[in-house]
Amino acid sequence: MKEDSLPSPEELLLITPIYKEFEITEENIIRLIELEIYNEPLDAYCVECNQKSVYRRINSPTGYLHYDSSSPTQAYIKSLTAYGGRTETSDRTFDIRFACSRNTQHVIYFYFILYKSCLSKIGQYPSLADFDSQDIKKYRKVLDKDSLGDLKRAIRLYSYGIGAGAFVYLRRIFENLIEETHSRLANQEDWDEEKYQKCRMNERIQLLKNELPSHLVEMNALYPILSKGVHALTEQECKKYFRLLRIGIEIILEQKLNQILEKERQKIIEDQKKAIANIRNEIS
Ligand SMILES: [Zn+2]
Repeated sequence: MKEDSLPSPEELLLITPIYKEFEITEENIIRLIELEIYNEPLDAYCVECNQKSVYRRINSPTGYLHYDSSSPTQAYIKSLTAYGGRTETSDRTFDIRFACSRNTQHVIYFYFILYKSCLSKIGQYPSLADFDSQDIKKYRKVLDKDSLGDLKRAIRLYSYGIGAGAFVYLRRIFENLIEETHSRLANQEDWDEEKYQKCRMNERIQLLKNELPSHLVEMNALYPILSKGVHALTEQECKKYFRLLRIGIEIILEQKLNQILEKERQKIIEDQKKAIANIRNEIS
């Protein structure tokens, strides 16, 4: 299914799965050109540095003959015309290459096709899933092995343009995050398990809300979607909600990571206080 709202160049490069099609219209053609002549620094994970990095573009757009830095868009359109009489909407393929600013041997390549006024990313190296699965390793401290595997699978499926499958894996992570808190509270004496079992997802979250990461409670607009069977959602809806759910889950995981860091910081402060008290005792 074609979409006519064309995302920003950064989103097309780093988030949009391959083979997703965007209809190029008079309204959004400027964004296509912005993508082709993209020359900004690009923030992305470097799988070779094993950390976030800033990338710089290393190739110039095909047929870019009339470079004019004061008006790169106009210059590019002029160049296309000069290049075999093509126009902005002519069928073509183009690639956008970047090198990591720490080491120019670390490169990322993106390939696009414009065919019958329809733009798709048709390939990239390293894959979208490779970027992301490196980046999500930081969640090892707050996700069990199964959930981390689910998150990797979800991202991989989404990067291949498979919405429903990706969505199901994310939903399971979300449910596990809730279940983790539930099983902890279920051991307490005053816990009413029978009531909990009868509740729907949103009511369960209300029961657990004091113990859940605050962002999970704030995501309440998504619960009805999560409760729907995946058969009740279209492939397009699954992809749309996947993005929202993934961002939500990552915020929850960041909150949990921060809690761990905060505990570690508190421990350092307590140890420091004890050490200072000991010195004071030794002196007096
Ligand atoms: Zn690098």
